[in-house]
Amino acid sequence: MGEPLNQYECRAYAKINLGLDVLGRLPNGYHEVKMVMQSVGIFDVLTFERAESGIAITTDAGELPTDGDNLIYRAAKLLLDRYSIEEGVRIHLQKNIPIAAGMAGGSTDAAAALKGVSRLFGLDCGEEEWRELGVRIGADVPYCVMGGTALAEGIGERLTALPPAPDCFLLVAKPDINVSTRYVYEQLDSLASYEHPDIDGMVWAIREGSLQGVVERLGNVLQDVTVPAYPIIRRIKERMSELGAAGCLMSGSGPTVFGIFTEESRAHDAFLQIEREALAKQVFLTRFQERI
Ligand code: ATP
Repeated sequence: MGEPLNQYECRAYAKINLGLDVLGRLPNGYHEVKMVMQSVGIFDVLTFERAESGIAITTDAGELPTDGDNLIYRAAKLLLDRYSIEEGVRIHLQKNIPIAAGMAGGSTDAAAALKGVSRLFGLDCGEEEWRELGVRIGADVPYCVMGGTALAEGIGERLTALPPAPDCFLLVAKPDINVSTRYVYEQLDSLASYEHPDIDGMVWAIREGSLQGVVERLGNVLQDVTVPAYPIIRRIKERMSELGAAGCLMSGSGPTVFGIFTEESRAHDAFLQIEREALAKQVFLTRFQERI
């Protein structure tokens, strides 16, 4: 795969879900999902350096673990063990992606760590192997290895690459609440029924390059749990619509909400307004990120 390096730096992009459906529960307890994943221009930066031994992680995000509980650690360990590498690695994480937000922050860091450690040691290891190792860390890691626009099925690991979604301006807002992913899925299981979003239609709209089609099909079944339980999520969605969003949706298990805008100036005004009203703790103005 190339010469070993002394140092390597890369970005780990966050994702949003343009569509998220839960089809049922598998015998192993996992949920069977059907999701349209989309990378966005919010990213962490990971820096890798060779070390004599061990895996040492540092980060500017004080609340994150730096031991074996960090998904970066698990990714690095899987690779070092598989390739019987005696040397070690130091990894620094600059965290920009909101944590526990439904934006796959930990999963994308793990995917970046698989790529970064491979580059650092010049391992002959590519996307297929990263995806296979990644699913052992988390169901969203294979998608994060791939990036861009994709349909994810199974537990999230069965991927179909899609063409880039139509360009637009995105307002992303993470309110100052913590939502447990496990709680959201448990509550969903106890609902008698729920309306399924049109994921096939979303895929069609993306293939057609129709932003209007995308906006009309935004849907996430997990909102049925989180919106009644956390009024701030509804409030942010309503406010984004009032401020001119063509459509808005919660990402993943929340609580992050994103709004799609067709005009940059409107998106910018809405960004300032959401910040001014302190509806969210972290607010970003960004675009979709294509596969790299
Ligand atoms: P998903 O969208 O996949 O549900 P999320 O955005 O909801 O992910 P993460 O930001 O990945 O959630 O974090 C969930 C938990 O994972 C955190 O509370 C944290 O303790 C743990 N974690 C481990 N490693 C990382 C990492 N590198 N970045 C963020 N969280 C991590």
